[in-house]
Amino acid sequence: MILSERATQVKTSASLKVTAKAVNMNISGFDVINLGTGEVDFSTPLHIKEAAAHAIGTDLPKYTAVEGIKRLREAVCEKTFSDYGLQYEPENVVISNGAKQALMNTVFSLVGQNDEVIISAPYWQSYVELVLLAGGVPVIVYTREEHGYKITTDELKKVVTPKTKAIIINSPNNPTGAVYTESELRAIADFVCENDLFVISDEVYDKMIYSRKVKFLSIASLGEEIKKRTVVINSLSKTYSMTAWRIGYALADKKIARTMANIQSHTTSNVNVISQVAALAALEGGDECVNTLVNELKRRRDYMVQRISDLPYLRSLKPVGGLYILVNVSRLYGGSVDGIEITTGRDVAKILLRKYNLAVVAGDVFGCEDCIRLSFAASMEDIIVGINRIENFIKQNF
Ligand code: PLP
Repeated sequence: MILSERATQVKTSASLKVTAKAVNMNISGFDVINLGTGEVDFSTPLHIKEAAAHAIGTDLPKYTAVEGIKRLREAVCEKTFSDYGLQYEPENVVISNGAKQALMNTVFSLVGQNDEVIISAPYWQSYVELVLLAGGVPVIVYTREEHGYKITTDELKKVVTPKTKAIIINSPNNPTGAVYTESELRAIADFVCENDLFVISDEVYDKMIYSRKVKFLSIASLGEEIKKRTVVINSLSKTYSMTAWRIGYALADKKIARTMANIQSHTTSNVNVISQVAALAALEGGDECVNTLVNELKRRRDYMVQRISDLPYLRSLKPVGGLYILVNVSRLYGGSVDGIEITTGRDVAKILLRKYNLAVVAGDVFGCEDCIRLSFAASMEDIIVGINRIENFIKQNF
């Protein structure tokens, strides 16, 4: 039996795999702390859950429009306008099962066989897999730590070819926490327009910025030309602690949006209607719950950054946004723990899980072999215990 070559080459999502492993180890009686997942431990806010519960008791529409109920798409437009001054109409919006499906719809709409898509590393793993699945070619640009892991137009110029179709931007970034400034985005926008490209702008962490001096900016807001070329991807997963509700969306030129909805019509059709009603309550419910979440995440980030910077051998940039710290562990190379020689971040992740009951994600899945990724979406208690375990690992072996 031979399966599709393209499908069998898809790699498992690393953070989901680590989480499954941690859950299984806990069921088997280990006390594993999970700093692998980007899922905040907050409950979904009550007003959102109540809206969903109420909706179940009413006569809900059955199949809704594939692209989502109109009132929800209007609410997405209103929120995007009030937050960022970006003007869209409901016909520009496609509601999907999480940002993941929005990204899949986007990549499948834009990327043809052998089209190249520029992805800056460290990257979120799914970008590469989705481009490959669509028959495209991911062109990875390894950004430099001293540039804050942000891609520059000099780097873009070196890799652009007549086959380049799009660039994926993710700001705030998973896994680096980097946030692009206006001038950096302007330079990329000019490059995109000059070279007749598209931008896929993954903005799922737009609210998660921890410096008052830094403001979130969407590349789509830098003029009509770049807006037409940009597909904005967003999600309610992180902002409203709604990961499992599976609500994401894309904002795009109407022709692209129609193509995306067409693809979705043959895969999942509409997102389940209860989640759509819940999403509407989230978008209309005000930002108090979001502010509370972001303040707490800032506290956790600050704590984690401080503890990591106090430890010898580890190096990390302070994440400006997002949910993660990318820690360079290359100064541990040459060491060995219980027969596991340390030559990559993956070896460190393996030792931490097997010997110290701590789940983290190895950096190679983000295109950063020398790193491990820690999530500060975990509870403060878990963060404290998790970092204590890293401290013990270093003290006992180096
Ligand atoms: N984009 C990035 C950068 C992410 O980190 C994630 C989830 O971790 C997603 C998209 C997917 O989010 P969703 O839960 O909305 O599918």
